[in-house]
Amino acid sequence: MNEEMLRPNPMIVITDPNYWDCDCDNNYIHKKSITLSCPVCKMTEDECSDSRPNEIKLHYKDYKDSNND
Ligand SMILES: [Zn+2]
Repeated sequence: MNEEMLRPNPMIVITDPNYWDCDCDNNYIHKKSITLSCPVCKMTEDECSDSRPNEIKLHYKDYKDSNND
C-alpha cells in the first residue's frame, strides 16, 4: 500500500461537470443543461472550466452536491 495515494491532493479542485464558469464578474455560473454559451461575455462551455460546488451554491440556492445524496 502506498500512503501517498491515500492522501487527498490539495492541487485537485473539485468541480461539478454539470456547471461551468464564464468570464463575467457576476452571474458567471451556468448550468450546462440550460446554456452552453454566455450571451454577455460570449464564452462557451468548452472554453471554460467547470464550476466549483461552493460557488454554485451561491448562485443556485436549490443546488445540492451530487455526491452527497
Ligand atoms: Zn459571461
